[in-house]
Amino acid sequence: MDSPQRCLECGTLWTDGVTCQDHFYQMGYWELENPTALYEVHHLMVLSYHLQHPSLYSPTGLSNAKELLVDFLTTGITPSAMRQKIRDDVDSGVRKFKIKSTAESFGTYEYPVQWTMTAASVTAGGVDTYCDNVKAWAQSILESLKASGNLDA
Ligand SMILES: [Zn+2]
Repeated sequence: MDSPQRCLECGTLWTDGVTCQDHFYQMGYWELENPTALYEVHHLMVLSYHLQHPSLYSPTGLSNAKELLVDFLTTGITPSAMRQKIRDDVDSGVRKFKIKSTAESFGTYEYPVQWTMTAASVTAGGVDTYCDNVKAWAQSILESLKASGNLDA
């Protein structure tokens, strides 16, 4: 009599044992299968997934990720400019902070967040509406972060 499990970070119900990470892999799989059509939203997908699982980030990595989300959604930065920005932040010799969490140091939100969409919502929509759903997911994250007081409106 296993009770259904829920993600401790984004609150998704893990129906039939399908976890958030499984949804993440499903989305990555669709992108690999349809690179021309779907790869444009790859970075937005990865960013959205990590923002809903903030413990994957270091505290500084999380605040950087919030800035990236705002950049992407409000200043209309292109996917290639986004990739460049991420490369500059991550790969350059002037890397100033750790992106990934450690057991002692990981990102959390100051206030609890009610998410309106999760990775599970995107995979539920299927591959045909994938790009639109990833964009809607990212937009919903921005709005949830603002509504909860974790991001300045
Ligand atoms: Zn989750």
